[in-house]
Amino acid sequence: MSNTEEWIDFECDVDLSDEADYPYAVCRAAGLRVIPLQPIIELPGHALACGCGDVECKALGKHPTIPNWQTAPNWDDGQIEGMRMVGQLDPAYGVLIRDGLLVVDVDQRNGGHESIQRLERDIGVDIRGAAGFIVRTGSGGESAHYYFRVADGAERMMQNLAEYQGIDFKSSGFVVGYGSPHVSGRDYELLRGAPSAIGEPPHQLVAKLRETGRYTGVVGGVLRDVGADELQAIARAVPVDKLTYEEWVEMGMALHHTTGGSADGLKLWDTVSAEKDGARYTSDGCGKRWRDFGKSKTGGMVTLGTLIMLAKRGGYTESAEFVSDVDWDAMEAATAAATTPEPAEDEPAHKPSGNRVLRDILTRA
Ligand SMILES: [Zn+2]
Repeated sequence: MSNTEEWIDFECDVDLSDEADYPYAVCRAAGLRVIPLQPIIELPGHALACGCGDVECKALGKHPTIPNWQTAPNWDDGQIEGMRMVGQLDPAYGVLIRDGLLVVDVDQRNGGHESIQRLERDIGVDIRGAAGFIVRTGSGGESAHYYFRVADGAERMMQNLAEYQGIDFKSSGFVVGYGSPHVSGRDYELLRGAPSAIGEPPHQLVAKLRETGRYTGVVGGVLRDVGADELQAIARAVPVDKLTYEEWVEMGMALHHTTGGSADGLKLWDTVSAEKDGARYTSDGCGKRWRDFGKSKTGGMVTLGTLIMLAKRGGYTESAEFVSDVDWDAMEAATAAATTPEPAEDEPAHKPSGNRVLRDILTRA
């Protein structure tokens, strides 16, 4: 469709009636904002590279071709048609996650399939069944994007849950759109539904992602519940002004991991940084890095354990409650219940605990 004949044909045939042939046009028609991505190109010797020209580019298949893609407009018919003409969104495009869009990104390689099944059992709802639009990603197996739209406050929701590895709950950034190539050689593929059928996520999921006041961190490889107050005490004990730059970044990564990348975690890091290290603090320093923390899947995880280690340098000592794993509140409640004549409530026993072929760019060039 990028050959000369079609170009000429276009002059006398301006319409998008064959919209279905163009996934990005289908997405756009449903109110999603689409952005052009660099194609994946094949180098001599069959190595793959990003179309941006940098052979070292790590964003293979996920590299926007336009600057300021975050603020890409809602293209109108003429613009989208013009982009179709020059193949700008072909073969690869992204869908901006904004305006309440929530994309549940299940990555089988990181245990996401097992995690989503467990999450569904734990909150008692069929998350995947509730999605009106599902795209199978190129990662293989059950890896997929489940699209939802949240009425309000999507940005206040957790982006990760430590006890459910391999699932991202994306409410910002972008995802690669269906029909686009994946570096594996498989396309992102429409699995079920349509962009026009995107609906609200199950309220149980929203509630789970909005849970505040408690987080699940990792200390020494073991899941550990930590209250918001305790987390604040730990962060405040960190002697930020005495940290190296790398340690300060680790502090942010640990908070990001523990709070699931939530706005509250960022605020805590930013506030403590401003208070304790006014000399080096910049207003956008934390926010800029925070957005990158969620993207990196490689390298060692920096967790709550690291944060506690840094806090101990500032004199932090773990409270008895935190160390002993004894839930004093629960014990108090149990004691109270034992002395109350009311029958104990029947509590639920479970507790949520922890190619299209690479378009040969060479033929186009
Ligand atoms: Zn690139």
